Amino acid sequence: MINIQPIVVNPFQVNMVLIWNDETKEAVVIDCACGGSVDRDKLTHTLEQSDLKLVGLYFTHLHVDHVLGTGFFAKKYNLNPKGHKADEFLYQNAKEHAQLFGLKMEDDLPTMTEFVSESDVLTLCGAKYKVIHIPGHSPGSVCYYNETDKHVIVGDVLFMGSIGRTDLWGGNHELLISGIKEKLMTMPDDVIVYPGHGPATTIGQERQSNPFIK
Ligand SMILES: [Zn+2]
Repeated sequence: MINIQPIVVNPFQVNMVLIWNDETKEAVVIDCACGGSVDRDKLTHTLEQSDLKLVGLYFTHLHVDHVLGTGFFAKKYNLNPKGHKADEFLYQNAKEHAQLFGLKMEDDLPTMTEFVSESDVLTLCGAKYKVIHIPGHSPGSVCYYNETDKHVIVGDVLFMGSIGRTDLWGGNHELLISGIKEKLMTMPDDVIVYPGHGPATTIGQERQSNPFIK
């Protein structure tokens, strides 16, 4: 059985998403955003409480507020973090961006050598997740869609009642809107949406009431 739990971390209140499997005790983190020791301990304790082993680090996109804990956990569990190639430049400049936003990044990021791309089907903790590339918030923003369990992890592409900002590096408002309409709003109403910030929502609720996609 697959479990999913967002953990709110860092001054930007990022939803770091933990996925785990009760039987195999495998866990994957999407957006390892836990910068600083208090946030790091949140993840460590959650893993220890359920006796979980972290086996993967994936990213919805590579803005600095979403990668802050990556250096520490990649090293601890010997993992290769994976995001979309089009966001690699953000990852490479993350330390500089951390200073720009007043964020603490204590551990250096390991070089990213593996990437996810459109239509990849990943097996995370025994569950299938399809990679959906929706640029606009950042050039390499992706969503992870679990069609069987009916949830999608969207990062900063879509929020409850809103969408991601498009005024940062490589942002594009038109691309973001068309991507959301073509690739997310074509999903069933009851698919649960886990955004990178703020509360979870559903595709149906956003289709009905999100002013940006009417
Ligand atoms: Zn972002």
